[in-house]
Amino acid sequence: MKTTRYYTCEYCYKEYVPKRRGVQKYCSNSCRSNACRLRNSKNQKTNSIKPLETKVSNQAEKQMSLAGVGNAAAGAMLANTIKTVFTKEDNKAATKGDLKRLTEKLLGRYHLVNNLPVNSKGEYPYFDLQANVVVYFKPNN
Ligand SMILES: [Zn+2]
Repeated sequence: MKTTRYYTCEYCYKEYVPKRRGVQKYCSNSCRSNACRLRNSKNQKTNSIKPLETKVSNQAEKQMSLAGVGNAAAGAMLANTIKTVFTKEDNKAATKGDLKRLTEKLLGRYHLVNNLPVNSKGEYPYFDLQANVVVYFKPNN
């Protein structure tokens, strides 16, 4: 009996039919070398989102390293991760009141991300719940 089993590429997450079952992790040589380069650049701490990466779970860290590549799919994963982190923060008594005030002040769309650094223009990172992206701007007061 012949069944086709698909593997998921660990770099681009595409499904593919492995040439050598059990040992293959990536759909192509280019994905394998890209993944290798990504690991190396991560070790050199050149990733601009490193401050967040250190505070999230292992699974999120895996997604986060992809965000360093800068593609749109990885960006969406980053947004989801921030949302998860943010939701956890919401349950902490110390930050709950602050978040509530901020939510009311900003009409529930933008939420200050506490574990991302202020950018070079002195603007604060906010998570945009409608567009699922992080945006930077200065608070009004
Ligand atoms: Zn691939």
